[in-house]
Amino acid sequence: MSIIQLSPTCRSCMAPIVWVRIQPSHKWTCIDPEPRLRGNLLYEPSTAKDGSALVRVATPLERTTGVALYQSHFASCPHADLWRKAQGAT
Ligand SMILES: [Zn+2]
Repeated sequence: MSIIQLSPTCRSCMAPIVWVRIQPSHKWTCIDPEPRLRGNLLYEPSTAKDGSALVRVATPLERTTGVALYQSHFASCPHADLWRKAQGAT
């Protein structure tokens, strides 16, 4: 078991971000730390052994209930194109 250390800021625009694993695929992604009006992700109680935060896509019903919804940083990053190119090239 290892704790994965990842930068808490975007490599492209230096904005603060939060690394989470999106359910159900458990793929790593990064989100903006603050809830967004147009967000579509909500936190799940984490059951991951490494303590990583989990999110999942909110259902249409949940989106109407006023819960805090978060948005992928890829959606707001001004350098998202660079990000996509850089993915996997580390
Ligand atoms: Zn960014």
